[in-house]
Amino acid sequence: MNGDTGNLPDQDGPNLESSNDILIVEDSASLSTLLRQRLEQETGARTFHCASFDEARLLLTTRKFTVALTGLNLPDAPQGEILELLSEHKVPTIVFTATLDDETSTRYAERKIIDYIVKSDNRTVDTVVRTVDRILTNGAFSVLVVDDARSARSGLVEILERQNFRVFEALSGRQALDLLAENAAIELVITDYHMPDMDGYELTRSIRATRSSDELRIIGVSSSSDRRLSASFLKAGASDFIYRPFVPEELQCRIDNNVETLTQLKRLRYLAERDHLTGLANRRFFFEKNPLLRPVSSHDAIAILDIDHFKSVNDNYGHEAGDRVLKTLGGILNEMSAANRYLAARLGGEEFAIYMKDTNAFQAHSFCEQIRARVQATDIPLQNTTISVTISAGVVEMEERETFGNQLNAADQLLYMAKKNGRNRVYSSLTLPEALLPEPN
Ligand code: GH3
Ligand code: MG
Ligand code: MG
Repeated sequence: MNGDTGNLPDQDGPNLESSNDILIVEDSASLSTLLRQRLEQETGARTFHCASFDEARLLLTTRKFTVALTGLNLPDAPQGEILELLSEHKVPTIVFTATLDDETSTRYAERKIIDYIVKSDNRTVDTVVRTVDRILTNGAFSVLVVDDARSARSGLVEILERQNFRVFEALSGRQALDLLAENAAIELVITDYHMPDMDGYELTRSIRATRSSDELRIIGVSSSSDRRLSASFLKAGASDFIYRPFVPEELQCRIDNNVETLTQLKRLRYLAERDHLTGLANRRFFFEKNPLLRPVSSHDAIAILDIDHFKSVNDNYGHEAGDRVLKTLGGILNEMSAANRYLAARLGGEEFAIYMKDTNAFQAHSFCEQIRARVQATDIPLQNTTISVTISAGVVEMEERETFGNQLNAADQLLYMAKKNGRNRVYSSLTLPEALLPEPN
């Protein structure tokens, strides 16, 4: 969740950093073009193409790349020299190959490349896109490796760094807990079992006391011959377990599975907190998860807004037109709230709310007045015509002594009075005298 602004992330959900550059070294023009198109479309990264070793050598002196994709045999470097070059520049590399036999895979394992993809396969491009996507996603993912033995630890770190993960290292359980407390971004812990101060089992239990498996994954690792170890690790709350010695590819698959599970859970959580029609926060998020409400302060304000005579939009133009109006209003509220670090939500039907941090009654009132004016001035295109709608709003400044529920009621009351006194108006404590006037006959 984007805690800074209090607003939900972009409509598309958790997305990748946009500053990724991918290098493609490939002499086949058709394959390169296809790869560039698909990668740019599906990963949002920028791609750069070189048709030869020499071109690549030149380009690598001028810019940095997140990932490189390369064929092995280039016209001016037929012996796979490109791998040496990319490794000198520390660019994680994915290799295309015509065949995949034991000899080649061993050779790749030595060269420390990310992955190799068989070229002849007609799903090559899909596989490349998926692999690159995974590598880029990994870049936003922090992993903590816990092992008291230096060689075991650095082996794991190397595998992870090659996959583009951000890696933290701890030499003991105690240090691991400290690092976790300081770095909320860590989402995967890979821990050894035998450690002097606290074993992996105890560490897992301590972590689980505060972090559940839907926000942090734990993979246990051990060279013990005790086959019951995996069961006890899992019972303590580990998400997975692997016995040493392992093939790096097996560990990699287990890591990928855990990262994918976590990504899916995040996506579900994200959808559960969002109104599907407008893309705004929903009622549940607004009242239960809203970071601006922790804590509610007497320097904040809240507004409840409601579309005027919305039923008649549905009645006259149809339900789809009504939906279009709701989406338009959602867009306005989102844009104007985000600019002020406020949080807008659709509470239900045609009722919306805005929580305004560090905002007094006067500022809150004038902000809602701006929204009211903008909504009234907005033409909403429908199939054969355009319409416009108005909104009414009730605004209250938070008071130290009142409960949140009471203040919400007060905002509702003000909204009710705004409706009663003619609609298309904003009521707050500032307008109270007018609001209390007897209803015009
Ligand atoms: P007032 O000015 O007093 O607020 O009148 P109103 O017509 O806006 O309010 P009322 O509560 O009478 O009607 C709200 C209507 O909103 C009724 C309901 O069918 C419609 N509505 C609720 N949710 C949706 C939705 O998701 N899409 C559409 N198109 N209409 C919806
Ligand atoms: Mg209404
Ligand atoms: Mg209503």
